[in-house]
Amino acid sequence: MAATSRHQLIDGLRVLQAAETGTLFKQARLNVAMCYPSPYHVGMSSLGYQTIYREVHAHPEATAERVFLPDDVDAWRAVRAVPSSIETQKPLHQFDLLAFSVAYELEVTGIFELLESSGFPALASARSEAMPLVVAGGPLTFSNPDPLEPFVDVLLQGEAEDLIAPLLDAVLAGGGKAAVLARLAQVPGFRVPGLSAESTRGFVCKATDGRLPARSQIVTPNTELRSMFLIEPERGCSRGCHYCVMRRTTNGGMRTVPPERVLSLIPEGVKRVGLVGAAVTDHPQIVELLETLARDGKEVGISSLRADRLTPRLVAALKACGAQVLTVASDGPSQRLRDLVDRKHSEAQIVRAAELAKASGFKRLKVYNVIGLPTETDADIDELVRFTLELSHILPVALGVAPFAAKRNTPLDGAPFAGIDVVDKRLERLRKGLRGRAELRPTSARWAWVEYVMAQSGPEAGLAAYDAWKAGGAFAAWKKAFAARDVRPFEAKRTPDGRRNAVAWPSVGRRAGPLEIPGGGGAEAAPSQVSDWGPLDLKDSAR
Ligand code: SF4
Repeated sequence: MAATSRHQLIDGLRVLQAAETGTLFKQARLNVAMCYPSPYHVGMSSLGYQTIYREVHAHPEATAERVFLPDDVDAWRAVRAVPSSIETQKPLHQFDLLAFSVAYELEVTGIFELLESSGFPALASARSEAMPLVVAGGPLTFSNPDPLEPFVDVLLQGEAEDLIAPLLDAVLAGGGKAAVLARLAQVPGFRVPGLSAESTRGFVCKATDGRLPARSQIVTPNTELRSMFLIEPERGCSRGCHYCVMRRTTNGGMRTVPPERVLSLIPEGVKRVGLVGAAVTDHPQIVELLETLARDGKEVGISSLRADRLTPRLVAALKACGAQVLTVASDGPSQRLRDLVDRKHSEAQIVRAAELAKASGFKRLKVYNVIGLPTETDADIDELVRFTLELSHILPVALGVAPFAAKRNTPLDGAPFAGIDVVDKRLERLRKGLRGRAELRPTSARWAWVEYVMAQSGPEAGLAAYDAWKAGGAFAAWKKAFAARDVRPFEAKRTPDGRRNAVAWPSVGRRAGPLEIPGGGGAEAAPSQVSDWGPLDLKDSAR
């Protein structure tokens, strides 16, 4: 088959744009490329990315166009096509400011690809004064953006809504890169590597209440969430799960938006609505909101169902909104481990969720879980097997299992990775125990280990990621690169049972010794972040 031509690839961007509703077009003095280091169908499902797109357009002297990592990077490389914008197909190198949104650790390679295929060195120190400023923000900045430092001029940390106008003003004021960076280094929320004080690490900015709710600007059929208008009826969470960066200590916990304001912001003609947030079912008026949406004939997806919040009325409202599958997060293979990480729900509550789902006519139950938590043993996995089989007698069950990778800004910060071999053995134990009676959807232990190293290390891990990407990006390349850069994930001292002792945990402890590099092959390619759990299933984005 003939190779795709450059013209065909650029034409594909026009086709994507033509299918959109809500695209913004504007001429302005400052042209911002809003870069997403994953493909279009992923980036356009990001509410934060869409919100910042609108914020840039709200500035009288700035405009934004979106640039995504190509779906087929090799095809673009083969014909030397340059990443270009969806709006006007303008190549990245013609913009004044490149702003990246980064959701998770492995997306850093998408930054390298977009920059270097556009003729910019990925390393900030190798870019000239004449090249545009490169900034990054997004969900990753809530935990550990340190590995991004060698590649960006500025980090926007935490909720960025209130940082956009100061950023654009500073760039528009001109005076050269050094002057712009010196200005931004003085403003809380911006971290300028090499200029900002050490104390700015870990700072997470909080948007003013008037900025809420975040909501879609563009609706498109070409995403995981097919033509769904996304809106955030609440931000943050009032709970305290020990592994979660969105727990109550982050930016003061949950902030809710009145249902009438949510409803007033849903455009006429929208048929599908996604309610997105860390803990949407904790919203005190979630039932009323869902019932109104159902009465209006909307199909609704919801990002975070908590088993202990499900009532017959809430489950019936979900069903009336078109849901066929009920999804809950269990997040701990046994009650002992759920208690340990303060995941406040019981087996009985999950069983009740399954029974309510069945009674309301749901076809399936999806349960998210995590394995490899500190102190976990085979006995915990056996409990998960027993419990999952019990659930499968109520409804068909799909069990999503992710290996635990500790994150910064959480009480479990500094907890070590369980080990690839350990996780693989536990997954095998789980698979054998379930005997095909529940569908098992595990995340790769190898890539969870890479995520862990990136999540718990500093700028040297970013440099290793760059080496790995240059060497082809397979797992073996990452292992080699981490070893060559002597990457040492942070390890904190822990109490023997994990982290229940408030005095001893979390404690700023020590760095680990040299990283233990796992054995085994390594041609495995990096995974996509997106689950294949269906269009109405908005995965909990908080963890
Ligand atoms: S995991 Fe969910 S319920 Fe727990 S703190 Fe995070 S957002 Fe809240």
